[in-house]
Amino acid sequence: MQEKEISQAVIRRMPRYYRYLGELLEDGVERISSNDLSRRMNVTASQIRQDLNNFGGFGQQGYGYNVKYLYEEIGKILGLNQQHNIIVIGVGNLGQALANYVKFEKLGFVIIGLFDVNPALEGMSVRGIKVRMLDELETFCAEHRVDIATLTMPKEKADAIANQLVDLGIHAIWNFAHVDLKLIDRDVVVENVHLSDSLMQLSYNIVKNRSARENDN
Ligand code: NAD
Repeated sequence: MQEKEISQAVIRRMPRYYRYLGELLEDGVERISSNDLSRRMNVTASQIRQDLNNFGGFGQQGYGYNVKYLYEEIGKILGLNQQHNIIVIGVGNLGQALANYVKFEKLGFVIIGLFDVNPALEGMSVRGIKVRMLDELETFCAEHRVDIATLTMPKEKADAIANQLVDLGIHAIWNFAHVDLKLIDRDVVVENVHLSDSLMQLSYNIVKNRSARENDN
């Protein structure tokens, strides 16, 4: 559908549209104006129109947006009309928490394998998914289609594993290890998730808010 390069800022806003439209669908809303959507999402109507125009619009003058159509189209833009098979490397606290979260599957993200180096975890299952030892990774990747590898292991080992994963044909990494992966000239996309960045941003806003309150008093 899209020929031109869409900015990452626009792409980052798409999941939020998708979530809101999904909620509207669940509430039985069939169509919505960009003004209504803008009020609900606290984004300007012109921002919504501009964002969606990147993909060819979708709205109709005087009608607004067809919620189901827009939901499905944004789903396609985000690649949610296909299943993504995921493996998790590092099945400690975070790896297990992710594996236990069932709702990813509703979006088409299906965890098919869990890998660790700790022999104490071998044979254990998380939500029915068996924990395998890392030395089984190569065979597993040869036998299964793996679309995304999640890194939830110590950062010291992350670069080596990431490069090995690319060698095994995996082209997407969901990286939770607190390190900027060194994947030079590799054919791979990386999405870094740092919950602490979000907390630091919250902390900044707490401080700002507090000082504004103090100045008011
Ligand atoms: P954890 O110690 O509970 O789990 C780590 C697991 O990785 C263990 O089971 C360990 O055996 C395994 N492991 C060690 N070396 C490995 C290797 N070479 N290959 C595969 N598995 C290996 O730690 P945790 O609390 O689950 O955190 C996991 C990672 O995620 C850490 O790097 C941590 O800093 C990071 N983390 C990131 C965020 C975030 O927001 N990005 C939040 C929490 C933790």
